[in-house]
This record gives sequence, structure tokens and C-alpha cells, in this order.
Amino acid sequence: MPYDKEKKKKYDKKYEQSKKGKEVRKKAKEKYRQTEKGKEVEQKYKQEYKETEAGKKTMRIRNWKQMKVNCDDWDALYEYYVNCWECENCGVELVEGHTALNKRCLDHCHITGKFRNVLCHYCNLLRGE
Ligand SMILES: [Zn+2]
Repeated sequence: MPYDKEKKKKYDKKYEQSKKGKEVRKKAKEKYRQTEKGKEVEQKYKQEYKETEAGKKTMRIRNWKQMKVNCDDWDALYEYYVNCWECENCGVELVEGHTALNKRCLDHCHITGKFRNVLCHYCNLLRGE
């Protein structure tokens, strides 16, 4: 009987979707992650992802959630945030970054969690609560 590639493919797919197949793959993945090479690849992947637009967005929104910002349209909020280039309080030009005094900050009410303004770091500090 000739080797049936299609049949094999179908069988593999079925196996992959089976409970046993999923388990096997999960185990292999876990094992790979424990290796030096696996760790390296994962780290690199994470790092690279953070540099992408999608990654930046994901990280930013995750950060807001940790800050207890309350929002029902994260996409819209993010769009608004990244397109804001002036502090809504003092009008200073905003920059991306982690240390600059005029870095872009999301000001939110610490009681309700509701987004208020996009501010520079300095104004955000002054405003506090
Ligand atoms: Zn400001």
C-alpha cells in the first residue's frame, strides 16, 4: 500500500486535537522551556514582542489594569492616549519614556478608577488623588 500523505495528515491532526495529543504537546513544551535554549528563546520572544506595536499596547493596558484604571473600551482609551502629544493640564510636549518629567501619563480617579486626562508626569504627580 502506498504511503497516504493525506490520511497521515488527517490522523496527525486528529491526534493533536485529542486529549492525549494535547497532553503530549504540553509536556514537550514544558520540557523545552526548562532547557537553556528554551528559556533563551522564550525570553527573546517576549523581548521582541514588547517592541512591537501590539506588544506595547498589551503591556500598557496591562499596566493600567494593575493601576486599577476602570474602562470598558481599552482600545479607544489606548488610541486616545498614544495620540495625545501635549499635557492636557500644562500643555508641555509629551514624550515616550520612563524617566522624563514630561513623559506621558494616564491620570485616573483613584476612587472610581475612571480615566480623566493624559498628563505629563509632573502634573500627574501634583494632581495626586
Ligand atoms: Zn503637565
